[in-house]
Amino acid sequence: MTRIDDLPVRDELRGQTPYGAPELDVPVSLNVNENPYPLPEPLVRAMAERVREVAGGLNRYPDRNALELRAGLAGYVTRATGHPVDARRVWAANGSNEVIQQLFQAFGGPGRRALGFEPSYTMHSLIARNSGTTWISCMRDEGFGIDLRAAREALAEQRPHLVLITSPNNPTGAAVPAKTVLELYDTAQEARPCMVVVDEAYGEFSDRPSLVPLVEDRPHLVVTRTMSKAFGAAGLRVGYLVADPAVVDAVQLVRLPYHLSSVTQALAMAALEHSDTLLAYVEQLKDERRRVVSELTAIGYDVNESDAPFVQFGPFDDTRRAWQAMLDHGVLIRDNGVPRRLRASVGTPAENEVFLQAARAVWKETTAAASTPR
Ligand code: PMP
Repeated sequence: MTRIDDLPVRDELRGQTPYGAPELDVPVSLNVNENPYPLPEPLVRAMAERVREVAGGLNRYPDRNALELRAGLAGYVTRATGHPVDARRVWAANGSNEVIQQLFQAFGGPGRRALGFEPSYTMHSLIARNSGTTWISCMRDEGFGIDLRAAREALAEQRPHLVLITSPNNPTGAAVPAKTVLELYDTAQEARPCMVVVDEAYGEFSDRPSLVPLVEDRPHLVVTRTMSKAFGAAGLRVGYLVADPAVVDAVQLVRLPYHLSSVTQALAMAALEHSDTLLAYVEQLKDERRRVVSELTAIGYDVNESDAPFVQFGPFDDTRRAWQAMLDHGVLIRDNGVPRRLRASVGTPAENEVFLQAARAVWKETTAAASTPR
């Protein structure tokens, strides 16, 4: 049987495995930060109607510039942030992953460097690898905040072409204060003109304001967002960026023509028209997050501050065993490779109840094991 490594594959892909969490059939899945609420029935009906409308026109390519969708997203961001955003500042693609990939294709590439603050969203470094960009990891401090002194040193030394800041951060949970982002932006520009990308995939779940208004006078600042989380539409695959119109022009140089299907564009418009109903779930998830954090803390766990629809908790002597123990109790969570910690998405109240029961049992099992004389 031919294996990948028998093919003339790029050197950096040899011995690699594809990115992705285990897909297991379990009663409670809290491992990929999905919104647990199915789309409401009136929206489902509106979507079915939209598909019917566009289906007859599928002999034609979609709107290459996704003008209606970009205007819809601009309207939503304006309402959500209170800051007027023009459609010329918005660009959309198949998930914010594709938006980020396009940013790397336009601003990274061979001979260029991108810097991120880790632990963070692993896809950033993988997109760097895939685009031939050198990845530089600047470690966060012990509390998973960005250590400004270490960041300044790394920026001066490495002179990256791209800087990635995830806020709220995945998997650790907390948002990055706007002041920190602005300091990083200014410091990065001292070394060379550098694109600073704020990945705000979980922005709606934070009590801190979005960083979108900051793009106004900063042509090197980009905020990426998604419909996968707050809109509960991970299966739709729509992400977007807000930036200077010149950034939108730049990503258009690298995007594939007709990258967003007519069906995707139409369904995203329907979801935007129901944004008020969908965003009501965000408030419920934030309430549930508060409950999960306080219950986990009451059990005895150390829980990291979270502005996101997930929580990172621990400490575990053996994360692999603790992850398996949770699974044995029917709950799939995520081992993101952060030492001694695991991450669980916030689910529906019923799912969270099962999760908390499992977490209680695992706490007893692991602390009992630790106190058993050897
Ligand atoms: N950024 C972060 C921080 C994420 O956690 C995710 C999804 N897990 C994404 C971006 C990508 O999301 P999507 O492509 O679905 O928009």
